[in-house]
Amino acid sequence: GATIGILGGGQLGRMLSVAASRLGLRTHVYEPSANPPAADVAHQLTTASYEDEAALRAFAETVDVITYEFENIPTSALDMLESLRPIRPGREALRVSQDRLTEKTYLAALGLKTAPFANVESAEDLEQALSTIGAPSILKTRRFGYDGKGQSRLKSAEDAAQALADMAGAPAVLEGFVNFSHEVSVIGTRSADGQVACFDPGENVHRDGILHTTTVPARLNASQRMDAVLLTANILNALDYVGTMGVELFVTPEGLIVNEIAPRVHNSGHWTQNGCAVDQFEQHIRAVAGWPLGDGKRHSDVVMENLIGDDMDRVGDIALEPNAALHLYGKAEVKAGRKMGHVNRVQGAVKG
Ligand code: ATP
Ligand code: MG
Ligand code: MG
Repeated sequence: GATIGILGGGQLGRMLSVAASRLGLRTHVYEPSANPPAADVAHQLTTASYEDEAALRAFAETVDVITYEFENIPTSALDMLESLRPIRPGREALRVSQDRLTEKTYLAALGLKTAPFANVESAEDLEQALSTIGAPSILKTRRFGYDGKGQSRLKSAEDAAQALADMAGAPAVLEGFVNFSHEVSVIGTRSADGQVACFDPGENVHRDGILHTTTVPARLNASQRMDAVLLTANILNALDYVGTMGVELFVTPEGLIVNEIAPRVHNSGHWTQNGCAVDQFEQHIRAVAGWPLGDGKRHSDVVMENLIGDDMDRVGDIALEPNAALHLYGKAEVKAGRKMGHVNRVQGAVKG
C-alpha cells in the first residue's frame, strides 16, 4: 500500500495514523520534538527540525503524498517538500490560513460574512481601527494563535495600550466583537476529484479559550444548517482543497459569521469517531490518498468532551460509563491546559 507522510506528531497526527492504518496504508510522521503522541502508532517516525534539509528530503523520499496536522509549517520546508512530493491540502490553503488577515480578507472576498476587521501593526493603526470598528473588540495576533492565546479583549478604547502591549510587537488584527447566540463548526472534506462531503455541524462550547465540548446535533434551523454546509463547500472549492477542513462559525440573528478556518482535521470534529461510519480522520486520509470519500452521515447524537490537564483524574470513572468512548493521546506528562484526550458520549441513535 501507499505511505502517507504526516507533518506533525501531536494527537491529530496520531489519529490520522490510526485511520490510515485501518485502511491498510502506512504513515511516516515528521516531528521535531521527541516522543510525540503519534510515535506509538506511526509506522515510521523522523525526529528532526524543519530546518534540516537532509531529513526533510529523506522523509519525502519514503512517502507517496504529504499531509499535515498543523498550519504553521515553515515556508522553506514546504518549498523543499513540494519539489519532491504532492502536498495535500495544497499551498494555497496554507497561505490563506497561516495569517488571520489574509484569511479574513480571503473569506470576505468569497462573499462570506466575517466580523469587521482591520490590520494593526502600530498604535496609530489601532487608533484608526478603533475609530471604525469600535469596542468591544478583540485584538488577535495574525500568526501562531491557538486556544485563545495571543488575544486581548478591549472593553473600551481605554484598553488600547494594554492590548497593543499584549501583542509584543507582533502584527495583529482588530476584530469587532460578535454578539453570537452560540458557536458551531462544520467539518468538511473534498476529494482529489472534487467531491465534497460535510459532516453535520457541531455546537461548540469553550472554557478558558479552549474547546470544552462539541454537541451534535447543533441548535440550527434547516436553513442555517444548509447555509453552514454550503459555505463550507464554497471555501473547499475556492481553495481547490484536498482533505478535511474545520470551519468555525458564529450563529447570529443576522446569519452565520465565519470566525476562522483550519486546513486540517479539527478538534470539534472528534465526535465523528463515534457518530459516523467514516470519521473526519478517515475522510482526510481517503482524500489525500486519492480515494473516494466515505459515508460521513451521522448515525448517533454525540457529546464530545475534551480531557484537559487534571480532567485526567476522572478517566477511571469515565471508563466505567456506559456509551462513553475514550480516546487518550498517550501523553506522558499532564500539564494544565494540555489536551490529554477526549471522550465521546453517544447519546442515542438518530431515528429514521
Ligand atoms: P482555536 O483554538 O479555535 O484555533 P484561536 O486561538 O484561533 O482558537 P479564535 O477561534 O479566533 O481563537 O477565538 C477563540 C474564541 O474566542 C472563539 O471561539 C470565540 O468564542 C471567541 N471569539 C473570537 N473572536 C471573536 C469575536 N470577533 N467576537 C466574539 N467572540 C470571539
Ligand atoms: Mg484558530
Ligand atoms: Mg477558533
